[in-house]
Amino acid sequence: MNQLSDRLNSLSPSATLAMSQKSAELKAQGVDVINLSVGEPDFNTPDHIKEAAKKAIDENYSRYSPVAGYLSLREAIVKKLKTENGLDYTPAQISCSNGAKQSVCNTVLALVNPGDEVIIPAPYWVSYPEMVKLAGGVPVTVPAGISQDFKITPAQLEAAITPRTKALILCSPSNPTGSVYSKEELAALAAVLLRHSGIIVVADEIYEHINYIGRHESIAQFPELKDRVVVVNGVSKAYAMTGWRIGFIAAPDWIVKACNKLQGQYTSGPCSVSQKAAEAAYTGTQAPVEAMRQAFERRRDLIVKLAKEVPGFEVNKPQGAFYLFPKCSTYIGKSCGGRTIGSAEDLAMFLLEEAHVATVGGTSFGAPGYIRMSYATSDENIVEAIGRMKTTLAMLG
Ligand code: PMP
Ligand code: GLU
Repeated sequence: MNQLSDRLNSLSPSATLAMSQKSAELKAQGVDVINLSVGEPDFNTPDHIKEAAKKAIDENYSRYSPVAGYLSLREAIVKKLKTENGLDYTPAQISCSNGAKQSVCNTVLALVNPGDEVIIPAPYWVSYPEMVKLAGGVPVTVPAGISQDFKITPAQLEAAITPRTKALILCSPSNPTGSVYSKEELAALAAVLLRHSGIIVVADEIYEHINYIGRHESIAQFPELKDRVVVVNGVSKAYAMTGWRIGFIAAPDWIVKACNKLQGQYTSGPCSVSQKAAEAAYTGTQAPVEAMRQAFERRRDLIVKLAKEVPGFEVNKPQGAFYLFPKCSTYIGKSCGGRTIGSAEDLAMFLLEEAHVATVGGTSFGAPGYIRMSYATSDENIVEAIGRMKTTLAMLG
């Protein structure tokens, strides 16, 4: 008997979290697994942020906060948006949630009616289409393979727009590809959007600070479009704070009010202590952010160099985030000891079981011929993981 709602029955589990759990289970059994599956910094949260959280506990930040988050946190975010991004917002235009994941989901639930279409460039982060489906909307994917550096063109965007298009979800720097849209590329997409009234852009900028081209560009910078942009960001990636669960949107008042109404009935404001930690992240020294960025850049160079030496891998040079998304479709259809690799998921499972390296198959990112590797791990792990993968893949014939 299946008594679950249609909404739940149509929802896929998160492949990134599932693979990371599988890898943790194997590790608990004593298997020496190298986990390149989940996307989270391997660094600890910087000390001054942890101190701020301890102080918040001692000062009894233990009660419900305003639904949108403490005013002091929203003021710190307004200042960050102005100084780092040149964007003007008021504290009333900020809503803080339990991570950027909830921020995206709130926005989708606040905007999308059953049957509305949401354009999602593929490869995409696994959760976007599922959130759209939760809202009863229709995900419209626009494919952008490695030959176009995983970025959609203005012509592709134009062709995907219909009278039912409600929103575009744009992630730059991108999970899972690490691709970054330049200012010119964003301007060209903005020009298309400006020809069609009413389409909202959900700009997921959670990897803003993990950027190897020197400067983050937001699609909210174009004044004619800004009233239709929801900027999503948070502390998870830049400050190594994935477990603290603080994200935010910066958006026009009507969208923020709607998200606050939804959140007020659903989760209330996010964790009080985490909010004080996030405030310290935004107002304190930014030196750890740059130190972690540099470490990620060095690892990017290392993994790109090594992955290029793996036969059958086609590799781009990611300009941001901490993922490599090699095309590996040549391995699909090959076999080893009676086991045939039927998909990228089979390949990821083969690599987990035979090489003890956890990756994620590309299908749940909308790119069936690829696998995702997170290089948010030590240089030694990267070298060992790619070495093991190379040896194990050579067994496929
Ligand atoms: N957006 C993207 C593209 C991500 O990769 C993640 C990963 N967690 C999130 C949003 C959610 O981040 P958070 O941990 O703040 O919920
Ligand atoms: N965003 C990270 C990832 O893609 C964390 C897992 C998740 O939230 O899906 O691996």
